Amino acid sequence: MRRILWFRRDLRVDDNRLLELGGDVLPIFIFDSTILDRLPSNDRRMTFIFTALMRLKEDLARHGCNLALFYGKPTDVFTWLVTQHSFHEVCASGDYDIYALERDRDVSHILEFNPIHDTYIFEPEEVLKNDGSPYLVFTPFYNKAKTLFHPRHQEKASFGDNHLIDFDCSHLHHIDHQQHTLLPPTLESLGFEPQTLTAHQQMTPHEKLECFAKKLSDYPKARDIMSLMGTSGMGADLRFGTISVRTLLRWLVERKKEGVDTEPFFRQLIFRDFYAMLLYHFPQLESENFRYHFKGIENVETFKAFCTAQTGVPIVDAGVRQLLETGEMHNRVRMICASFLTKNLLLPWQWGEQFFAQYLMDYDASSNILSWQWSAGTGVDPQPYFRIFNPYTQTLRFDKEGMYIKHYLPQVREVPAKFLSDETLLTHYTIIDYPKPIVNHKVSSKKALDHFKSSL
Ligand SMILES: Cc1cc2nc3c(=O)[nH]c(=O)nc-3n(C[C@H](O)[C@H](O)[C@H](O)COP(=O)(O)OP(=O)(O)OC[C@H]3O[C@@H](n4cnc5c(N)ncnc54)[C@H](O)[C@@H]3O)c2cc1C
Repeated sequence: MRRILWFRRDLRVDDNRLLELGGDVLPIFIFDSTILDRLPSNDRRMTFIFTALMRLKEDLARHGCNLALFYGKPTDVFTWLVTQHSFHEVCASGDYDIYALERDRDVSHILEFNPIHDTYIFEPEEVLKNDGSPYLVFTPFYNKAKTLFHPRHQEKASFGDNHLIDFDCSHLHHIDHQQHTLLPPTLESLGFEPQTLTAHQQMTPHEKLECFAKKLSDYPKARDIMSLMGTSGMGADLRFGTISVRTLLRWLVERKKEGVDTEPFFRQLIFRDFYAMLLYHFPQLESENFRYHFKGIENVETFKAFCTAQTGVPIVDAGVRQLLETGEMHNRVRMICASFLTKNLLLPWQWGEQFFAQYLMDYDASSNILSWQWSAGTGVDPQPYFRIFNPYTQTLRFDKEGMYIKHYLPQVREVPAKFLSDETLLTHYTIIDYPKPIVNHKVSSKKALDHFKSSL
């Protein structure tokens, strides 16, 4: 059996179920032209992915394997591999958004497609209600997940007896209608400019874990304080699989033995599974509301103010600046921004989701879409639409001294911290080079409630 190992969301050698199978294999990665064509040449994720791929290639070589790199549409790549190189089977780990499911279905018409369970802790059909239907609410999902959790969910995958098939892995194989090769594979040859990642983004996942080990016991409190780097910062690593979720689970077991309460962090990992499970079962959530008919009101001007950090609401603008400058945004600030866009600005949640998708290093369709639907109050969450974050009280609670805001918003650095959480002060005083709030919180919240109520 000549087997293709298709790396997608599992860019690592360590603890990878794809590499457990063994046999005559060709490990590959495809730069999918359908996805890449939509990205700007300065996309930060491409630098992250390319670095991870080069590391993967080196690590595979150390195991006597290699990684063949392709550019093109996956169906064209597999058609070429089947006709020119007689492959029978492709194995790949799960990816559940609509594009990925359709892509995999198309590939399965070309050669046998063997899905491997690796990306999440649970399989999408594993944590279900007693009647076999999917959970819509996180807490019962979490409780059930805990009862089903078994040591095999964190068992390390071994490196199988893999024999590399004779194949030229030194070139980037460009598969369009006529196959040709580019040498050597570089970011530039793919049409991208290398970006300077932050020091933290440049760390290996294990270095990040080492840093986070010192903070884990404070995680429940520190994770909400915007100026602290109180979370793991592992989002992009989990997204692209530069570390396996099982490795994180085993790491948590070790920390638990040291007496640390690991449950709050474990819970967030289960959240990731929950959202992936929801999108798998309800693919229509990718673009449609689950509850409520209210679709938002299109307004290009206010959307532009949001995307250019010109809303005059400091915490929102600082969050957008963080996103544009680093490809990251603190979780609480993501919630505040999403609430502001969907409730105070009354814009369609899909616009915000797309904006985040464009820039987030850890962009993941399920987590992003479901989080936006949660904030808009349109998703599966039974919590009603009247959850509206007040960006000023949120600032007072989680960035009282304005350290986070001032870090990302240079215009307000000289402004006393109390201004940043006080809408009245911001409305009445002029800050040089910084706009006044484009909406009043109370007025816009009332308008949002009226709209939602009328579309029940
Ligand atoms: C509007 C909005 C959009 C979001 N978009 C994404 C996205 O595209 N991709 C993404 O991975 N997360 C997304 N999140 C969830 C969360 O903000 C990020 O997972 C988290 O900020 C990543 O930072 P971290 O790795 O330091 O998190 P940590 O707190 O260290 O958590 C560890 C890991 O657990 C998972 N996790 C943590 N919180 C959540 C959560 N609320 N939902 C789902 N998984 C979670 C992530 O994989 C994360 O890396 C979004 C949240 C909101 C409110």
